[in-house]
Amino acid sequence: MLGRLAKWMRLLGLDTLYYNQPEDLGIIHIAKREGRVILTRSKELSGFENAILICSENLNEQMEQMGSRISKSALNPFSRCPECNTPLIKVDKKEIEGEVPEYIYKVHSRFKRCPDCKRIYWRGTHYKEIKRKIDEIIS
Ligand SMILES: [Zn+2]
Repeated sequence: MLGRLAKWMRLLGLDTLYYNQPEDLGIIHIAKREGRVILTRSKELSGFENAILICSENLNEQMEQMGSRISKSALNPFSRCPECNTPLIKVDKKEIEGEVPEYIYKVHSRFKRCPDCKRIYWRGTHYKEIKRKIDEIIS
């Protein structure tokens, strides 16, 4: 349910695990063990310490709710794979030739790869949008 918010938080560089079965209370143990904050839509889960109830279904509103709790210094945008949470590594442009669309290869010079799911990232339109969002939401 909070998959988009989870991706957004990973884009900010925040170590974010995502579970879509909130009825599984095992995540409370994981959160305790790893010192994590739980973001949830479940009223039941939100009663636990370190849990935040996310009420809105709107991503912007969810981001705003989170933004007030995140300090800019904790962020490291575009350092983590939004799909699988793995820290990204820089790759030499030549290494990824043929793996991204030709025009992307031409206009961008810096690329990162997820060592786990192998996705390749670059600072495209998404990047500007996220940058703007960060400035808007987190002061
Ligand atoms: Zn990945």
